[in-house]
Amino acid sequence: MTTDTAGAGELLTILRDGRSRTRADLVKLTGLARSTVGVRLDALLKQGWVVPEGEAVSSGGRPAVSYAFNPEARVVLAADLGALHARAAVTNLAAGILAERRTELAIAEGPETVLGWLADAFTELLEETGHTREEVSGVGVGLPGPVSHETGRPINPPIMPGWDDFDVAGWLGSRLGAPVLVDNDVNIMALGEHWSTIRDVEHMIFVKIGTGIGSGLITEHRLHRGAQGAAGDIGHVRVADADPDVMCPCGNTGCLEAIAGGNALAARLRVSGIEARNAGDVIAQVRAAEPAAISLVREAGRNVGDVLASLVSFFNPSVIVIGGELAEAGEHLLAGVRERVYSRSLPLATANLQIRVSRLGEQVGVIGAAAMVIDEALASDAIDRTLA
Ligand SMILES: [Zn+2]
Repeated sequence: MTTDTAGAGELLTILRDGRSRTRADLVKLTGLARSTVGVRLDALLKQGWVVPEGEAVSSGGRPAVSYAFNPEARVVLAADLGALHARAAVTNLAAGILAERRTELAIAEGPETVLGWLADAFTELLEETGHTREEVSGVGVGLPGPVSHETGRPINPPIMPGWDDFDVAGWLGSRLGAPVLVDNDVNIMALGEHWSTIRDVEHMIFVKIGTGIGSGLITEHRLHRGAQGAAGDIGHVRVADADPDVMCPCGNTGCLEAIAGGNALAARLRVSGIEARNAGDVIAQVRAAEPAAISLVREAGRNVGDVLASLVSFFNPSVIVIGGELAEAGEHLLAGVRERVYSRSLPLATANLQIRVSRLGEQVGVIGAAAMVIDEALASDAIDRTLA
């Protein structure tokens, strides 16, 4: 039995492109014997990974059943934990959100408070959507700090007191009874945008500009985490013409985040006598057409653009997506980014470069957390194991 169904995962991988196929199509695509395809397909059908769909007319004129991947076969629990908010969702296996919950919750409350809220929210959302824990393929969590993806533990996260080396995956896994994957919030945002809007793009950079600034890199369709999982942490790159007196919480001066992050812009607005505590308040001022706020956001765009210009020359992406709260400033922010990227990178690197804001807005994080789980749970060897 095990040997016969081994390889069924490969069939599922073929069907995951969204097209339904007949048995004959699958025989042709895999080069396998018709009987082998039959055994594997039956195993997938039995567990609900694949469903029969409509009838195609075969070459013999006889109607042949075609088969399609079933995104409703299981569900995924996905969370995006930010500095000041938390969002939880139940999704299907296409990262489609079935139900979600959002709350104002500071990550600084500590792991047991925040993860406790999350475990309760997941339990309620499962009930709300009529699903059980047995149907959960996995849990994906994004955290606003550096994370070891391998162990699921945060590593010296600057804005997350009490979280250093906390076993997030183990804590949630024991309560929810499902495997848990953890990554930093910008990486899951990059995955979410790539998965949903530009899956055929090979090289992209997702830049989050909120309270902090960071980036996630997709290369050859995969997330590039780097040796220690710290790839893309551009918030502490020094801005060339930065004021040397601007201190960053990391201890250095002139960091991009200390100059163009949400808190930095809010502080500068306060200096000009405008009430603003954070990125959200800065955006409110931009929406109210406050000239000082618009000018600050444009300048922030140019600062981010300076750093991105180096990345474009180094990495040659075809798309840069800007997300995070300040992305809501839209063209005011993009104008500054584009100005610097296009003027400071070589024409070959920018010839087909697209720079735009995220199309998924606030949901990009939970969609990416779900995508992270789905890619792992539906990998062909993982499917073979569930069938064995
Ligand atoms: Zn810094």
